[in-house]
Amino acid sequence: MDAIILLGGPGAGKGTLADALRKQKGFFHVSTGDMLRAAVKSGSDVGLEVKSCMESGELVPDSVVLNIIKERVTRESSSAQFMFDGFPRTLEQAEGLHTFFSEIGGVITHVFNLDADREALICRLTARRTCKTCGAIYHIINMPSKVDGICDVDGGELYQRADDSEETILNRLEVYQKQTAPLIGYYRDLGLIRDIDAGGSAAETEALVLAVLNG
Ligand code: AMP
Repeated sequence: MDAIILLGGPGAGKGTLADALRKQKGFFHVSTGDMLRAAVKSGSDVGLEVKSCMESGELVPDSVVLNIIKERVTRESSSAQFMFDGFPRTLEQAEGLHTFFSEIGGVITHVFNLDADREALICRLTARRTCKTCGAIYHIINMPSKVDGICDVDGGELYQRADDSEETILNRLEVYQKQTAPLIGYYRDLGLIRDIDAGGSAAETEALVLAVLNG
């Protein structure tokens, strides 16, 4: 069993890339953001615990995230290749993943560091729209749906994430710099970082990543 990690600030294009890699390479997509949003929506105990952190753009506690990851990976242990999107986000999570994953014979093969400048990230997040039912991601200018406000894939309603407001975006960027960016050095020391210029189109980013995977 092996895994790749998609690392990058909010708006770097992790979700869009994950969707493309799932379709092309058959990775099993594990997004902690999607799982936590689902927990909030369902009103579960975990959802109630993390709701306010998520709304303000702060990270939810490491223990909560590590538990949902362990549960998901254990449930899907037949999946040969995992793709972690938005996880790990702190050194403690990275160490927790390392311990847990090696115990079950898992190996992390690549950590893609999706790099884009701050202006590009802010522009993408303010223009992002997401399908309420299938989670497909659009950009109102660069990647619009065919019909305004309606998902091309399943006709679902497109919405703007509550944490994509300008004030919360700035906090999320700061949280990324302080708590997540140190992971680049951590994984570089382990020889796992693959630097990807994610400032171009989604197709360009995807081609750069596929070149590494198909290497
Ligand atoms: P995302 O969809 O990856 O942008 O995540 C949305 C929000 O969910 C983040 O701003 C955090 O509040 C929370 N979250 C997602 N993944 C993690 C994680 N690995 N660790 C802590 N909080 C997370």
